[in-house]
Amino acid sequence: MDLFEYQARDLFEAHGVPVLRGIVATTPQEAADAAAELATPVVVVKAQVKTGGRGKAGGVKLARSPQEAREAAEKILGLDINGHIVRAVMVTEGADIAEEYYFSLLLDRAQRNYLAMCSKEGGMDIETLAVERPDALARISVSPITGLDAAKADEIVAAAGFEEADRAELARVLVLLGDVYRENDATLVEVNPLVKTGSGQIIALDGKVTLDSNAAFRHPEWEGLADESRDDPLEIRAREKGLNYVKLDGSVGIIGNGAGLVMSTLDVVANAGKEFPGSPTPANFLDIGGGASAQVMADGLDIILSDAQVEVVFVNVFGGITACSEVAKGIIDALGMLGDRAQADRRPAGRQRRRDRSSDARRSGAPLGAHGNHHGRRGAQRRPTGQPGSLR
Ligand code: GDP
Ligand code: MN
Repeated sequence: MDLFEYQARDLFEAHGVPVLRGIVATTPQEAADAAAELATPVVVVKAQVKTGGRGKAGGVKLARSPQEAREAAEKILGLDINGHIVRAVMVTEGADIAEEYYFSLLLDRAQRNYLAMCSKEGGMDIETLAVERPDALARISVSPITGLDAAKADEIVAAAGFEEADRAELARVLVLLGDVYRENDATLVEVNPLVKTGSGQIIALDGKVTLDSNAAFRHPEWEGLADESRDDPLEIRAREKGLNYVKLDGSVGIIGNGAGLVMSTLDVVANAGKEFPGSPTPANFLDIGGGASAQVMADGLDIILSDAQVEVVFVNVFGGITACSEVAKGIIDALGMLGDRAQADRRPAGRQRRRDRSSDARRSGAPLGAHGNHHGRRGAQRRPTGQPGSLR
């Protein structure tokens, strides 16, 4: 879960990282009021969107009066920055920037370690710096066991080539940023720029923090941090129903049990799709888990069929961990709920296959028309082992 800059700023402040005062505003008037409250000669009005490069996109503006802050907010609110619409700005005190540095601490999955990156040349796009002048970006591994302690912080600032005089304060701030990372179960803490002011103070001027959603269970304080405005509406609905659903771009709805089986199914469907006109691909990931009840199946089908792109649904349930009769019942219940929205074409395989099918057919009535039964029978005859056949 990515945080907005103002949320990162709050976390930094709570851990003693030096930051500037900032006030969130959602209207030009609130921005003007915020500027009046901060009462510094210069304030900065900053777009609050979860994407970088706000500066370049016109999302960061200096203002010298509440009136200017209002005008800046008028320009920034509603702006589209890399596809993110600005709904709020943060008005901060203006900093007297002497130098701009870069620092980040992140989870290095490949090395099963943390990685700290630091540079005297911050402010700019760090990807560009990493490519064009890799020597200017120090990269130091940090053990999750010891964390970013004082010794490690000294090593980082020395590797980044800071002047002797700046190192102690910088190292102190890095240790605090390490605390932010560890205590909040972050996978990324990035400060760009970390600035030195004219009076020699070190301040985190911008913050990007990603929290590990898997740790949400031990962070009740994260409640309310999630920003659902950018999530897919179907994913939100699925989450409310406790379904493990991810929306994809294709037209073939997928339901399976067990993440491994579902992922394999996505691959198989995408691959098989290449042989069809338009190369259909999966419309979603949906893992209904082991022992899925009829209700879960019905909920899953309901979500998938609400996706306007879906033309057909492929249910691939491994009966070893879920009773197929439950699955069949779920499909029938769902078809009942969905009425005209769905028709079934089934190829059940395994123990009690025949009995399930005949009883299902009796119970299901209309949705299982001649077309479905015909195909089902033919499929079953041709594939007595029950291997899934082609999609249609
Ligand atoms: P980003 O472009 O999304 O990374 O937004 P930042 O918060 O990093 O701001 C971009 C740039 O705006 C910074 O690198 C600074 O050069 C400038 N900036 C931000 N805050 C201030 C400030 O308080 N004073 C001055 N003079 N410049 C600022
Ligand atoms: Mn920045």
